[in-house]
Amino acid sequence: MKLKTLAILLSLAAALPAVASTQPHWAYEGKGSPEHWGEISDEFQTCKTGQYQSPVDIKHVIDGKLPPLGLNFRTDTESIVNNGHTIMVDVQDSDDFMLDNDRFELKQFHFHTPSENLIAGKSYPLEAHFVHANKAGELTVVAVMFEEGAENEALNPLIAAIPAQLNHEVKMEKSIDLAKLFPADEHYYRFSGSLTTPPCTEGVRWLILKQPVTLSAQQLQAFQKALKHTNNRPLQPLHGRVVVE
Ligand SMILES: [Zn+2]
Repeated sequence: MKLKTLAILLSLAAALPAVASTQPHWAYEGKGSPEHWGEISDEFQTCKTGQYQSPVDIKHVIDGKLPPLGLNFRTDTESIVNNGHTIMVDVQDSDDFMLDNDRFELKQFHFHTPSENLIAGKSYPLEAHFVHANKAGELTVVAVMFEEGAENEALNPLIAAIPAQLNHEVKMEKSIDLAKLFPADEHYYRFSGSLTTPPCTEGVRWLILKQPVTLSAQQLQAFQKALKHTNNRPLQPLHGRVVVE
């Protein structure tokens, strides 16, 4: 699969209804659960055969003296959808950062509960994935871990806007201050991985911010209630991959 089509595929995969007659049905429970993803469709084979799959448990980290990320925030218009797989916010702005001498621009972000990736065996109640793409369509996912604690005010307009109806995308009236969803310390772990949902395409750069942010127990419940089920793919083997910090 061409990397150019990745970004489109990703947003398509995430935007598709949970049950669509023309598309194979994948899920987190039952017949379409993660252990069967690779068999649901030829297009999903990488979910089974891939050697660089996500998520992973981050351990055996090598010190590569990676500098902090340096995110630029220019938040503009956003729309939000609950597609049955996740709560996803589409952005029409140009939040970006530089990596490998290339500019990666934010396309959408979404949430998993509990976290998909683990840090040294530790699971978090919520993980946000900020999906970025460069001009060539190559993807970098910046992940932020949330732990239970103080209320995160920046999440309130998002939680308030979650549509009750599945697959019903609505424009957000109040935009989210994305900067406040990120920790002050932008140091991260880096490794190569895949989409964590079918088609599980590889070649995705993963940057997991080390410092978690917080959300309140009530805010966490709002995500859990909207999603109705957990949406974390099980851990995948590292297969000799190296995690750098
Ligand atoms: Zn994700």
